[in-house]
Amino acid sequence: MKYKIDEIIKTKKPHICGNDEWKVIRVGADIKIKCLKCSREVMIPKYELDKKIRQDS
Ligand SMILES: [Zn+2]
Repeated sequence: MKYKIDEIIKTKKPHICGNDEWKVIRVGADIKIKCLKCSREVMIPKYELDKKIRQDS
């Protein structure tokens, strides 16, 4: 799974605020994503994020 800046991703489990859509704001070994609802930013290792996102295909 590759991530691009400004890409919107969805997690399988929603954030504590109830939202499941996140915007990618930084990529690398760790990915930084921002909750679209509460604007909280989270840094997460790429391999962890790969397991948490919902893939449509
Ligand atoms: Zn949130």
